[in-house]
Amino acid sequence: MSHLTIRLFLAWCCCWLVPVFLAEAAVTARDEKSDKSRTWERLLDDAGRVQLPTKFLKALPPDFIHFEFDDLRFYAAEYHPDEHRMILNRSLSFNAAGRTLKPLGKMTHKELEVLYHELFHAYMNYLQVVEKQPGEAGHGSRELLSFAKKQQACRYEEVRITPVALRKDDTESRYLTKSESWEALNETWAVFIGWAVWNQLEVQQKTGRSMFQKPQQAHQWILRLKVAFEKGDLRGYYVPEDPDERRLAQKRYLAKPSQLTLKEAGVLMKQVLGFQHDFIKRFEASFESSKVSTC
Ligand SMILES: [Zn+2]
Repeated sequence: MSHLTIRLFLAWCCCWLVPVFLAEAAVTARDEKSDKSRTWERLLDDAGRVQLPTKFLKALPPDFIHFEFDDLRFYAAEYHPDEHRMILNRSLSFNAAGRTLKPLGKMTHKELEVLYHELFHAYMNYLQVVEKQPGEAGHGSRELLSFAKKQQACRYEEVRITPVALRKDDTESRYLTKSESWEALNETWAVFIGWAVWNQLEVQQKTGRSMFQKPQQAHQWILRLKVAFEKGDLRGYYVPEDPDERRLAQKRYLAKPSQLTLKEAGVLMKQVLGFQHDFIKRFEASFESSKVSTC
């Protein structure tokens, strides 16, 4: 039913006010849904065109994420799992108008890193939503969620943190609550997803070809990963639940001993980013000697 029909109908018959409003709401919801689907289709096309990972994005329903734009001052972006709301800085919208997402090809590498970080949060949120649904829904996604839960129990319940963010070598131990450890895992993994995308773009920049077609570029990406592990760059954070602890620090950053492990990186490369088999083999061979499995 068009808006015109609904409005004319409203003028003739006020006793139909409630159903008419419902009809209008249904039309608006349908429009919104197709807007979201179009945004999502464009995002997937763009990602393919700039040779970025799409595996986990393809698992998400087109209308799952509600994109919003704002002038964010303190954070680059936010994701609110309860409403599936992703709030991005206005600079990531088309013409900075705050209405729809800017084409990925027009984003800077840093903007794409932020976007992928947030998209990964949305994906983990989706896996949890699907887990609560009975039957076949989400079949195939459970593998990552069960791996995440094992890692949460094994690696993120007791962590080392850096009490002073800039003094990376001063560390303290913390026992995290369930929600703190889940947040620490999510942030650590999202940091890696953003890292992987930014570095893929950087190594592909010179030739404009996918790093999966160029062994030299694949080698560079893996070298960069080695350096990141050595420097302890792949670390997440959590917001302390304890108000006393929160008075000391709004966020607690994990220390190098609690950064991402090789095993986690491998699983994320395979199951989330969908990196090619040959690339994963190359990655595994490069890190063979430093493989330490703690879980
Ligand atoms: Zn995050």
